[in-house]
Amino acid sequence: MDYRNIAIISHVDHGKTTLVDALLRQTLELGHGQEIAERAMDSNVLEKERGITILAKNTAVEYGGVKINIVDTPGHTDFGGEVERVLGMVDGCLLLVDAAEGPMPQTRFVLRKAIELGLKPIVVINKIDRQDARPEEVVDLTFDLMADLGASDEQLDFPILYAVAREGKAFKDMDAPRDDMQELFETVLGEIPAPGTDLEAPFQMLVTNLDYSDYLGRIVIGRVQRGEVRKGEFVNLVHKDGTRTKTRVVQPFTHLGLQRIESERVGAGDIVALSGIEDAQIGETVADLADPEALPIITVDEPTVSMT
Ligand code: GDP
Repeated sequence: MDYRNIAIISHVDHGKTTLVDALLRQTLELGHGQEIAERAMDSNVLEKERGITILAKNTAVEYGGVKINIVDTPGHTDFGGEVERVLGMVDGCLLLVDAAEGPMPQTRFVLRKAIELGLKPIVVINKIDRQDARPEEVVDLTFDLMADLGASDEQLDFPILYAVAREGKAFKDMDAPRDDMQELFETVLGEIPAPGTDLEAPFQMLVTNLDYSDYLGRIVIGRVQRGEVRKGEFVNLVHKDGTRTKTRVVQPFTHLGLQRIESERVGAGDIVALSGIEDAQIGETVADLADPEALPIITVDEPTVSMT
């Protein structure tokens, strides 16, 4: 399996939920992963009925045989490095900006972290159907903001898509609008680097997030750096002080649409969840039993001179 792992950075109401819905819907229309899209749509519809518009933290869509994991970024406040950790799972980001409102100060913090981590941004100017849309100006404002935050020339050379997420449309050229999301999918596949997918190497995954269910107990979430792990397999949990605990993966999960799906095995490049690692803490490494090696914890140096 080939993967792309991306984060979405967006101010509230700029259309993140709508955009992900549109990507899921397109997955269905293209006949890929019917099951993915149907399940995903169902759960999102349910969430909307309950008045909850927050996305699942991890969503997966499929395009052209490539699985695209989309992670939601937390709000602008950084709780003990959460933003860095989440961004550490991905290789690029979609920066979604309202075509009328422009980039908002609240997204600055997350965007700065993304830039510092060297992530490749793709800018999506959404809601270009609004009467008061001013897409060209908003592109310029977005460029200026990124330049301000210290983006490299490569990051500033970002691809731009214009979107009406509500109608499932995204395209590169405003004079050649399209009725689908294909150009956005193609841009993600073409511009965002693919993660390593070495399944033969000893298993290694940084615990990036924790979840909990009454039935499964603690669930650890992260991107598999290398290797693969099977249901029931023994692994080492490498603690931050270098000590290790032998433990067992009860159930691996991958993501499908907005849901977590039980898998027999999960492997390099994917963003996965594992149950059974009861003692795990964020920043620890789940590693191969015979060849355990810790992953570095992601940290970002604050610039000594503020550029803003
Ligand atoms: P989120 O908070 O970023 O997840 O934003 P939502 O996806 O919930 O969208 C916020 C509002 O913007 C909703 O009322 C959407 O219907 C609306 N919206 C989303 N995409 C578009 C669009 O392309 N054009 C217009 N005019 N409105 C949109």
